[in-house]
Amino acid sequence: MHLLRTHGKQSLDSCAERLDLGAVALLGVPFDANSSYRGGPALAPPAIRAALHSGAFSLFSESGLDLGSESRFHDLGDLVLCNRIEDFHAIESAAAEIACRGSRLLAMGGDHSITYPLLRALAAKHPGLGLLQVDAHPDIRDEQDGNRYSHASPFARILEEGLISRLVQVGIRFLSPPNLRQIERFGSEVIPMVDWPPPNLPAFDGPFYLSLDLDGLDPAFAPGVTHREPGGLATREVLQLIHRTPGQLVGADIVEYNPERDVDGITAVVAAKLVKEVAARLLHHHH
Ligand code: MN
Ligand code: MN
Repeated sequence: MHLLRTHGKQSLDSCAERLDLGAVALLGVPFDANSSYRGGPALAPPAIRAALHSGAFSLFSESGLDLGSESRFHDLGDLVLCNRIEDFHAIESAAAEIACRGSRLLAMGGDHSITYPLLRALAAKHPGLGLLQVDAHPDIRDEQDGNRYSHASPFARILEEGLISRLVQVGIRFLSPPNLRQIERFGSEVIPMVDWPPPNLPAFDGPFYLSLDLDGLDPAFAPGVTHREPGGLATREVLQLIHRTPGQLVGADIVEYNPERDVDGITAVVAAKLVKEVAARLLHHHH
């Protein structure tokens, strides 16, 4: 874990040593080189962490789990990256180390392109892995502006490599022809906002990964994103997906928070709340 920037007074080696079966590892991935429009998400992990630890906000999940005293919750700090495509190797190997120790990854992006290297690591550990994506956009284009690793393309790469058994896409309200062709090609399961609420919410009968793009929420709840798309999910609806989606949650990422677009830190608090609730679910702490 020498790639990690030290966090607080804990040394990284002592963090890594305590990673074991059933622990949850929070990992910041400050990377936004694959954003198509503008940067910002690379600044997100420290901003989310600051909201998480602000005195105005408790570390209790809604199920009553106190992450502040939970010995199985480890904040590993942020990866040290160059913000270049070559970073994908470091991102994948950090996720692989966490997975190999039997810990569950909770990554804070970063732009959505990081889900591809993260999934390469986790898919090796979890055959038949399903994936639940919360997002305004399908992010399944073959490429954008010639970049096949764009934040508009991670799910194309993931599906091409057969890393997952199913992709269920929730919150979708942007369906351009390049995305629609790929949805057809890969058979991803889209639950578009025009049909919300759907007759059946997503369900998995085995392990699944949650990839949470903050622009899946309505910008009224989460304005701090690069691509604001009105007509999205309420915070409570995303929390219900986190709490209630059947299946075994084995890893997650929370991506696309852009502090440069935020309004009075509202979205940082939403992201911190989602970190807490996802961590509690990963620790199998239920109501
Ligand atoms: Mn999006
Ligand atoms: Mn996305």
